[in-house]
Amino acid sequence: MSTLRHDWTASNQTECYRCGTAWRPEVDNEQCSGWKAPPPPPLTFERLRAVNVLRCEDAFHKLNAWLPEQWTNAMAGETGEACNITKKMGRGDYPDEYSMADATRELAKELADVVIYADLAAARLGIDLGEAVRQKFNEVSDRRKSKIKL
Ligand SMILES: [Mg+2]
Repeated sequence: MSTLRHDWTASNQTECYRCGTAWRPEVDNEQCSGWKAPPPPPLTFERLRAVNVLRCEDAFHKLNAWLPEQWTNAMAGETGEACNITKKMGRGDYPDEYSMADATRELAKELADVVIYADLAAARLGIDLGEAVRQKFNEVSDRRKSKIKL
């Protein structure tokens, strides 16, 4: 039988590092059930593509049911949503740290939508997005005479 105890040290005693149990005095010395779930595999362009197309065709429609311009227009729509949030940030619509934190979380979602649609647009046209990003990044590095490359 395991004698693993909760580990509160990583979160400054707010939750167990392994199982996520919230700290309370009565559970302080209880046995930990261990990891609540294995960590997900690392996110790569290849994994995003595989899961993205699979989810698209499972939950929405075939990838080729949309024309390339429909995919890029969807991406532009998400870009607009992200820009709308930063517009509001810039004009002071989020005056305190809590509303700004909420807006930042919403911005993260919109930026994620942009990446997800960019990948679907690339998939629709048979573009390897990871390789395209590498080539374009390095092209700009060369243009700017930077040695920093992917
Ligand atoms: Mg969105």
